[in-house]
Amino acid sequence: MSDVEVIPRYPLFINGETCEPLSGEYAPVINPANGQLVAHVAMGNSDDVDFAVASAQAAFDDPAWRKMAPEERSKLLYKLANLILANAQELAMLEISSSGGTISRIMGLDIPAIADLFMVLAEEVKTYAFVENLPARPLPEPCHTQVWKEPVGVCGLITAWNFPLLLFAMKVAPALAMGNTVVVKPAETTPTSTLRLAEIFAAALPKGVLNVVVGEGPVVGEAMSLHPHIDKISFTGSSNIGRKVQENAALTMKRVSLELGGKGPAIVMPDADIDLLAYGALFGVFLNAGQACESGTRLLVPDSIYDAVLDKLVEVAGNVVVGDPMREGTSYGPMASETHFKSVLDYIASAEAEGARVACGGRQAKVDGFAGGFFIEPTILADVTNTMTVACEEIFGPVLSVIRYTDLDDAIRQANDNAYGLSAGIWTDDLVQAQHIAHRLKAGSVWINDWHMMRTDAPFGGCKQSGYGREFGRYSFEAYVETKTVSTAFQRDPSKKALFRMVHSKFV
Ligand code: NAD
Repeated sequence: MSDVEVIPRYPLFINGETCEPLSGEYAPVINPANGQLVAHVAMGNSDDVDFAVASAQAAFDDPAWRKMAPEERSKLLYKLANLILANAQELAMLEISSSGGTISRIMGLDIPAIADLFMVLAEEVKTYAFVENLPARPLPEPCHTQVWKEPVGVCGLITAWNFPLLLFAMKVAPALAMGNTVVVKPAETTPTSTLRLAEIFAAALPKGVLNVVVGEGPVVGEAMSLHPHIDKISFTGSSNIGRKVQENAALTMKRVSLELGGKGPAIVMPDADIDLLAYGALFGVFLNAGQACESGTRLLVPDSIYDAVLDKLVEVAGNVVVGDPMREGTSYGPMASETHFKSVLDYIASAEAEGARVACGGRQAKVDGFAGGFFIEPTILADVTNTMTVACEEIFGPVLSVIRYTDLDDAIRQANDNAYGLSAGIWTDDLVQAQHIAHRLKAGSVWINDWHMMRTDAPFGGCKQSGYGREFGRYSFEAYVETKTVSTAFQRDPSKKALFRMVHSKFV
């Protein structure tokens, strides 16, 4: 039997149905836990993007979609949430087999959060101020002004491979809630769950509202960011590509939001509970094998307790289980691809070359029964300085850099002395001082005595080179609306309209 007969094929999803890519080309999807082929996925090109955009444009032009009442849209979002829950098992399996995320994380965290996000927005959309009445104001005669929020149009949504379904939901849910239509481009290495969810959603959505075009970033992603009929791009990925997307989008003056990388600093205060911070800091960096933009990767520790904290971190890291993502109890699985696996090991080698010390881990992790898997040991780097490559750049792996500081000003200076500004944290028992420190940290989110404290109803996003715009909750709506000001004058007699006199001297 040939591969083609046994390995599932995933075509594109355009205009409410699966469709073959115009190039006829398919690419392999590899399970990073064992290196095996799990699917063939269609590779779209710019012509497929044109077709998807035309379908999305036609769907947007239908007033039944664009002008749907908020109560109806709310019901629709609830329906989509229920479809996610009803198909959770299948979606989770697709996500695990392409991204290497663990079953406990995907079933316990991602799927409930994704469904919850649709439900949160289903409630928020009912009370969102689509129409705001401004107080009457004479200009100089009385006029009435309303501020309307309208959908932007066709939105291009480009996502990364680390949390494929979650990143999809963070963009699709608010875009649809505001009445836009979308063309989604998932990462080409992890497209299967996105394609399947689009197909599942088709039971509830009009044709053309949600389209998915898989393909290489420089082909499909670039065609989207340059496309004259895509009105907005929301991008999640690396800062380098984010910059390129922004440059391309500028040519047609598209609206852009960017969710980019991070290099989360966590400040350990001298009074911190060492047990809590050790478990917490490692949760912050080992969740999803460190392949999370908001990971806490720089732990800033005062000289006075540096050795004690390091010893505790190494002890706790010894209990972290690297292995089969399908097994409950696995802490984290493989790196999502071989290329990425090699890049993480290169970063660890660079740290040693620059004078850091590997306190634990640092190598490929051997996992019984998964000889072809791209696993990396839980790694803690000691004696890292804030200027070393591993402290400046996003590694995106299970690697914690432990950095010394002398006093609080030094800690805050080092925390902020980085190109990124996504997440930051503080470990302390002094919650009043923690609030003061939070004011001084340049980050979109600050977490006190925990990590990954993302809520589907609280804004999430970055500053500096972590991008701009906010996702989650009602805050995410602003990225998917245009503001229109509609003013009405009531004076019907032209001679009585004071400002007319400036042009029409007969009324003076
Ligand atoms: P990436 O930038 O390489 O790719 C992201 C997406 O962009 C993919 O779909 C890719 O195909 C596409 N792309 C590539 N070249 C393109 C181009 N020229 N034009 C348009 N699109 C193009 O990032 P990645 O390696 O897939 O993901 C990891 C990065 O994503 C990390 O930096 C991580 O921090 C970031 N990330 C950020 C968040 C957040 O919310 N801030 C969340 C998850 C991941």
